[in-house]
Amino acid sequence: MLTRFNLKPNVFVKNLCVHLGRAGRAAGALVPLPYNRFMATELPVLQASDVPPPLDPELIKELSVEIRELAAERNAIILAHNYELPEVQDVADYIGDSLGLSREAEKADAEVVEFCGVHFMAETASILSPEKRVLIPDLGAGCSLSDSITADQLREWKAKFPGAMVVMYVNTSAEVKAETDYCCTSSNAIKVVQHIWAEHGEDTEILFGPDMWLGAFVERATGLKDDPERAARFHVWDGECHVHAGIRPDDIARTRAENPEAEFLIHPECGCSTQAMEYVANGDIDPEGVHMLSTSGMIEHVRENPEGEYIVATENGMLYPMRQAVPGAKLIEANRMAYCKFMKMITLPKLRDSLRDMKFEVKVDEALAEKARLPIERMVSIG
Ligand code: SF4
Repeated sequence: MLTRFNLKPNVFVKNLCVHLGRAGRAAGALVPLPYNRFMATELPVLQASDVPPPLDPELIKELSVEIRELAAERNAIILAHNYELPEVQDVADYIGDSLGLSREAEKADAEVVEFCGVHFMAETASILSPEKRVLIPDLGAGCSLSDSITADQLREWKAKFPGAMVVMYVNTSAEVKAETDYCCTSSNAIKVVQHIWAEHGEDTEILFGPDMWLGAFVERATGLKDDPERAARFHVWDGECHVHAGIRPDDIARTRAENPEAEFLIHPECGCSTQAMEYVANGDIDPEGVHMLSTSGMIEHVRENPEGEYIVATENGMLYPMRQAVPGAKLIEANRMAYCKFMKMITLPKLRDSLRDMKFEVKVDEALAEKARLPIERMVSIG
């Protein structure tokens, strides 16, 4: 099995302190996690060397032409996640969030799907489009949130709670999805949990993962926090995305104080903004002027006041399509540390090589794909 993070065991706390040190915080000022517990996951740390050096504009032009020619030759569709590098977004046929892109892959009249995103997203495209050949430019583009739970860990967890329904964020591997009853995203997690209670009874035991921030948000938003008896039947896995590991309410409050006119926009995609959602729900962030919006919702919202100021809580790559769509708006990163190094592993030279050499194929075995498709379809039918 592919190992994406070469970290030694028991390095979590050390790494977390490195994160905080980079953010200029005193060592030991640890991020407050929901439920007062530490996650079991090892966090990869952003290094200066992780940021790919910018390409020469002429080279970008040449590569982009070559890539489009190769895509035509291969009958390939190029999909790019919102968090990809600007030049990768510019050469793609579609830009969007993980599920939206997998749907584009499904609809596309193409033989090849070139997925510029992270590994679990390419797997999801393969699950939903088994007849198409799905490629990813770099197999090492993983996801710390997805990697915070394995299928073995999930099976062990399920064994402790026989009969429990399993709800997993879409940021999970195909193997984990195959062990799952319902997938969810940040925007429909509440609906999915409420659907389970409506269909299977209020007493249903639920295993929710792997994002503990989203779990805490759901607990609060559904009133479980005030109902210890029901909350005891809602179990949350303690995984998270490394991108938001350094973000704290104080940082967000400071950015908002420095930009008092700015609205605060939260993009509930990926694990990098669920922490901000939970901070708002918990009252750690002033809810005045806060909007939780999808990618298109965010762009539409900014277009209504194109000269306005906005603090954006999401992975910082998202600011590129927003700047393209509404160049006059003042867009401020809620936290400059919100940078997914895995997304930025996809570069134009790797994309060109991938289409030229038809590598690296991501193929989910049909039997596994069949099981993994079910929780995605259940989620989609809920909305
Ligand atoms: S931003 Fe976080 S959750 Fe999203 S792909 Fe990167 S590591 Fe995974």
